[in-house]
Amino acid sequence: MTDIKTVAERDRSSVLHPFTQLKDFATGKIGDPTIVTDGRGVSIKDAEGRSYIDGFAGLYCVNVGYGRTEVAEAIARQAYKLAYYHTYAAHTTEELATLSDRLVRMAPGAPSKVFYGLSGSDANETQAKLVWYYNNLRGQPRRKKIISRERGYHGCSVISGSMTGMSFYHDHMDLPFPGILHTGSPHHYWGAEPGETEDSFSRRRAAELEQLILREGPETIGAFIAEPVLGTGGITPPPTGYWREIQTVLRRYDVLLIADEVICGFGRTGADFGSILYGMEPDLVTVAKGLTSGYMPLSAAIVGQRVYNVMEEAADRVGAFSHGYTYSGHPIAAAAANAVLDIFEKEELTNRAKTVGSHFQKRLKERFAQLEIVGEVRGVGLLGAIEFVADRQTKRRFDPQIKVGARISKAARDRGLIARAMPHGDILGFAPPLIVSEPEIDEMIDLAYRATKQVMDELAKESQTT
Ligand SMILES: *Cc1c(COP(=O)(O)O)cnc(C)c1O
Repeated sequence: MTDIKTVAERDRSSVLHPFTQLKDFATGKIGDPTIVTDGRGVSIKDAEGRSYIDGFAGLYCVNVGYGRTEVAEAIARQAYKLAYYHTYAAHTTEELATLSDRLVRMAPGAPSKVFYGLSGSDANETQAKLVWYYNNLRGQPRRKKIISRERGYHGCSVISGSMTGMSFYHDHMDLPFPGILHTGSPHHYWGAEPGETEDSFSRRRAAELEQLILREGPETIGAFIAEPVLGTGGITPPPTGYWREIQTVLRRYDVLLIADEVICGFGRTGADFGSILYGMEPDLVTVAKGLTSGYMPLSAAIVGQRVYNVMEEAADRVGAFSHGYTYSGHPIAAAAANAVLDIFEKEELTNRAKTVGSHFQKRLKERFAQLEIVGEVRGVGLLGAIEFVADRQTKRRFDPQIKVGARISKAARDRGLIARAMPHGDILGFAPPLIVSEPEIDEMIDLAYRATKQVMDELAKESQTT
């Protein structure tokens, strides 16, 4: 292998990294890039030989863990046989037909057909086009607006990035686009009035959604898009009653529900899909990440019967469905997805996420809930988060300049644990591979605890000197 310094220099001089402070990286202030070289089970290794427990499964995606030879072999087999063919004009491959049949059988709602992309962002871009197409075809051409939620995350492309409800993803990039609206986040901890129960908070959020729909005119609203559990916005499970109340409003005004299952799909919450856990009946479902566990880029927009039937009925009138990518339904990605779903079924990863997940939730609460800088510990299945605050009683946030979340994440990393500082607030997030064992969970939590204690000590010293 080329020596480490050369790789780092080439990278620094030529890669435009996502979500990286460009100047700090260019000048070396944040050090060299981490060159990731190997992965096995729940751990990755870098070029300097350091090993890390990956408490975030890459970006919530490597559900089956690293180094699964079954998946590598399925990829190689398909690459040798037929590396590429397109799916335009009714072409297919066996892997793709098999995968689609599986997805239609397992997806929530009333699935009919599967459209493939390469990322969660492009799949949500497709969902927006499907909402517009469907409403044009059924003679409701004004129903174009799409409502998402503050703190929702749906991707970074033009429409999906507009759906994303955090200004961090909009600023200086001319987003959100008109026609994409936002309603309140489902986060009880920050959003509730003093003494407001989860149920009444849920009712209030649903009432706010209804007011937004009425203000805009129900005949202009096409769809509501949401993650069953809010992901990148803070790993926030919905308050009790939330999905029942929200769906009542959506049905009243004939608004489609798009479930963004990119994180929740394929077992992450301890159910096969978040929609199943919370009783959601989506018209459109987006999946990506766990679909291939990141072994190949692949996403899908799963189209429910209600939407598909209108599309098929209109076909004589409008001609071919004119949307698709060169790589839609790529055979190597489909082979990877089938191999991952084989593991998902054989190793009962949903059950694992449920049982190991309940151990994880319990340990996380035990270790962190009482710390004086912890405002909330939350999660479901193998998704969890700790929210840090300067004052537990008043819920006063830390000064963002102190970067408490990022510092704890860095301290954990120095100890060999990857836990993600979420982009909105001082939040440490966990989403380990679903194959994680209970002892590995204990080790993760222990490392995170010691990192937190270290930063608490630093904060105490800093407050003495100022
Ligand atoms: C990651 C994510 C996306 C975007 O997926 P990309 O593959 O990064 O484009 C969309 N929705 C949710 C819920 C996600 O977590």
